[in-house]
Amino acid sequence: MSGSSEQSAAAAVVAATEHIDIDRLVRDGVLTRDEARALEHSQQSDSGGAARMEALPETRGGVSEGDEKDAVKEAAVKHKRHWVRVTRVCNQRCTFCLDSMNQDGTMIDTDSLKAYIALGRKMGRERLILSGGEASVHPDYIELIRFGREVGYEWIQTVTNGMMFSYRKFAQKCADAGLNEATVSMHGHTAYLQDRLTGTPGAFVTGIKGMKNLINTGKVVVNVDVVINKQNYKHLPDIIEYYYNMSIREFDLLHIIPFGRGFDEHRHSLFFDLNDAVPYFRKAFAWANKPGVYLWTNRLPVPYLEDFERLIQDPHKLTYEFDGGRHNFESFLKRGLKPDCWGERCDYCFLDGPCRSTMFPYRGHLEARSFPHVRLDSQTVWPSNEARAVFEAQAPQRVTLTARDGDDAARALESLPFGDTPVTLQLDPGASLDTALSHGRVDRVVVASVADAARALVGKDKVPAPTEVEVLLDRALAAWLLARPTTLRSWGSRLILTVQDHEYLSGSQETDPTPESLRKLARQGARLKNVPECVAGGATEPHDHHMLDAGMLDRGGDLDLDGYVHHYIEHEYYAKSLRCHRCAKNDSCSGLHINYLRNHGFKILRPLDAAGRELEDAGSFEDITQVLKQATAQQDKRSRKRIVGMHQPAQSVRVALGDTRLGGPGGA
Ligand code: SF4
Ligand code: SF4
Repeated sequence: MSGSSEQSAAAAVVAATEHIDIDRLVRDGVLTRDEARALEHSQQSDSGGAARMEALPETRGGVSEGDEKDAVKEAAVKHKRHWVRVTRVCNQRCTFCLDSMNQDGTMIDTDSLKAYIALGRKMGRERLILSGGEASVHPDYIELIRFGREVGYEWIQTVTNGMMFSYRKFAQKCADAGLNEATVSMHGHTAYLQDRLTGTPGAFVTGIKGMKNLINTGKVVVNVDVVINKQNYKHLPDIIEYYYNMSIREFDLLHIIPFGRGFDEHRHSLFFDLNDAVPYFRKAFAWANKPGVYLWTNRLPVPYLEDFERLIQDPHKLTYEFDGGRHNFESFLKRGLKPDCWGERCDYCFLDGPCRSTMFPYRGHLEARSFPHVRLDSQTVWPSNEARAVFEAQAPQRVTLTARDGDDAARALESLPFGDTPVTLQLDPGASLDTALSHGRVDRVVVASVADAARALVGKDKVPAPTEVEVLLDRALAAWLLARPTTLRSWGSRLILTVQDHEYLSGSQETDPTPESLRKLARQGARLKNVPECVAGGATEPHDHHMLDAGMLDRGGDLDLDGYVHHYIEHEYYAKSLRCHRCAKNDSCSGLHINYLRNHGFKILRPLDAAGRELEDAGSFEDITQVLKQATAQQDKRSRKRIVGMHQPAQSVRVALGDTRLGGPGGA
């Protein structure tokens, strides 16, 4: 086919997608039902996965390599990806395969695949990812790469076991067709490990040959995925070194999860106690400090990344996880049917924090009309009367109302339900509070700048006592207040300084007040909110967890899955250190937002005794993992029912230190 006729063929397929029928893609086997639903909901990129190495930003003067890596990773998360499964067959039989139940030995029809690839471009996706099963065994694989290039993807990536690329000509043809990146699944650095884990004799030799062939094309970036499991965790540093010596600079370390064949058939040989793995992990993670090396972690419980917080996966990867089980999660939110995976797996599941520990209580609150806190914007457009009725049926102890200005707020307050429930009012910056404050229900106002705080506390808009003023604290404001201790004192106890949650790490990096500044503010008498006592050095105000935002409800008055996940990432994804379980405040404390911890590290969390003093014998991170290790070993001996050698931290911690939940509401 000539170049121009190829282009017109591509254009014809693109045109055909004007009327693309998602149901048909499901019937043709291109998409599962969950994938189709995710697609319908998705206006955004898929998140996570490998960084786009060719998109490294220019090195900025004075910016550390660590900051550069953070920026590249965040850019990668925002990059719009289009995942396309091209086969339901694989030439390996990995013991931990998550996809085995989707594999029926068939190839997916090429025309349907092309229609779906073209659809991704129409949706503005920039990166095409061809996956399977094993994508490269599809008879039209090279044609699909070429087609992706023709319809305009900037970057074409494949996820593969590398075996097909051991044929040099095949690797070259793929590169010539436009393949930019191959993510090769290599779980060992020896034939013994790789062949055993993949259930495929020859997997190592052919995989390595495939990687070399791809590298030798000079056109394809090659990186490595490793599924961390009981058989390879001790070799993790060696695995990275082996592939580093093959010029690989990017690694995705995926923690085994309790789904698929790994849990159903091989749990005893694959799952392990994370506390055993800590010394090996730390050696492996240290590779991330090497110039030019990019490490990603996936589904690894975050407390085990103490000292390596930059490797905590971007919280937005949760959206991808929830997309993958959309049907299950939506059935729960809309009909109360527990997800298929609920039960034994939950204790070992990375999604315990956002799923069982938070989404389940959220639905419980909605149903029982018992959300403790609700939030409404004056301009809320209700998706239906039903949604409005469900929201207004709640019996909260606090309502937060956001409005543009005083008049807007006054109007909204007139029609606000919930009886005499106290109202926290947040207006746009600079807006006058006057009119709104005449309404007796407002007992707290929220402001975001020092000018607004001054107006509200001592200026012309002075808020009458006992109304409180909550100030959203950033680094500049903290510095301003610390430089004016007299002003701070004169503003008195009605002032609350709130550390903000940031959806992105960059938001935290740009504006977080430092832990030291928080401690100093607390010492000067400031009331801090959203800060654990160990950081403030004294008592603090509780965070607004379990808050129903009106925007989270769908037409049926149920929680919308995407709205919930977004809310979780921004406001509920809190975490704590393993050491927190020695802290007397553990039960009442939810720790810190994940992005504050990614920015400042777990080390700032220091266990306290009942009187609020720092424990002298709190121990290091390594110390506590040793305690947990011994405790789980004893537990194994005591109970024959336990799955020996398969402990996630939540279990271990309960065993060793009492039945407390790990990581607060966001302990994923
Ligand atoms: S926590 Fe949620 S996603 Fe994980 S196994 Fe349990 S029900 Fe399934
Ligand atoms: S539980 Fe953890 S975060 Fe909370 S006060 Fe104690 S040490 Fe700090």
